[in-house]
Amino acid sequence: MIDLRSDTVTRPSPAMRRAMADAPVGDDVLDGDPTLRELEHVVAGLTGREDALWMPSGSMSNLVGLMLHLRRGDRFIAPAHAHVIDSELGTAAWIAQGMPVELPWAAAPGTQGIPSVEDVVAAATAGGPYYTLRPSLLCLENTHNAAGGSVTDAATHHRLVDAAHSHGLAVHLDGARIWHAAAALGVEVRELVGDADTVSVCLSKGLGAPVGSVLSGSAAHITEARRIRKMLGGGVRQGGVLGAAGLVALEEGLPRIDDDRLLAAQLADGLAALGCRVVPPATNILLVAVPDLAAGLAALEGVGVLASTMNGHVRFVTHRDVTPADVDAALAAITASPDTLAALRPIS
Ligand SMILES: *Cc1c(COP(=O)(O)O)cnc(C)c1O
Repeated sequence: MIDLRSDTVTRPSPAMRRAMADAPVGDDVLDGDPTLRELEHVVAGLTGREDALWMPSGSMSNLVGLMLHLRRGDRFIAPAHAHVIDSELGTAAWIAQGMPVELPWAAAPGTQGIPSVEDVVAAATAGGPYYTLRPSLLCLENTHNAAGGSVTDAATHHRLVDAAHSHGLAVHLDGARIWHAAAALGVEVRELVGDADTVSVCLSKGLGAPVGSVLSGSAAHITEARRIRKMLGGGVRQGGVLGAAGLVALEEGLPRIDDDRLLAAQLADGLAALGCRVVPPATNILLVAVPDLAAGLAALEGVGVLASTMNGHVRFVTHRDVTPADVDAALAAITASPDTLAALRPIS
């Protein structure tokens, strides 16, 4: 099986497992774990923030970020199909107590997943009498998962953040795959996260850690985030065992992260040549429009290729446990199966 369901299916590398076994640890709830602290310093440096805090998952990292910025009855705005709106069980509303407002993706080509500055300003200034909701937060996502791993460049990101800040909104960036965006653009992560107030990054998406995300921000935000994480049940004791895997994931994963974009492009080119309707991938997520999602997935599985669905498309995600030869093998298996081709091609 060639598993392209997600970049979370990677297995910890031998070096990760060794580092986990050998990690210096302490009680992170009592007085700190040295390995988690080291990882948090590294990520704070990468994102150009004062401090950072390890989290067990990206969902908790986003939730803590939202809870830092939202008060009961606040409105927060996010691009349509943002992960915090579609894929976190509504916790933005029922735990962080924000009312989500989805902004459409800007119309220009190459702007899937990105709201326009005009829409941000309109939503930020949609005030009214005392019984209307206070807009208080803009939540951005880079890369945007449901848009097919689309990339927001640094200039666009800065314009959106400035628009939000100049109207009194805080900004949280869901940067689960910010690594992929930075590599695709050839810029440093810290340039790409700009002045966002809080930034969440994942160590388990493409970098290969078995677990872990990191929230970064000002020292004051991270002090408060530590309290909120504990409130949510996310305080861990000898977390260095997990943090050590995150450190190795950054060391091993960052230098090769752009390979995943090339793998997705290889797969996209191959499928397009077979007549499939592909959304050209900007990073490691490839969306393909098929006549019937369930039939498409089943046909792929029948030839040894695992994919998933996202936003009405079949989704393939490349990662560090697949090689160019695997992609060629997947394409060859699809090509050799008339039924699979029929399930993936548009009905003519
Ligand atoms: C996966 C993902 C998350 C959440 O990460 P988990 O560790 O699975 O909770 C958040 N945002 C985006 C864009 C993601 O793709």
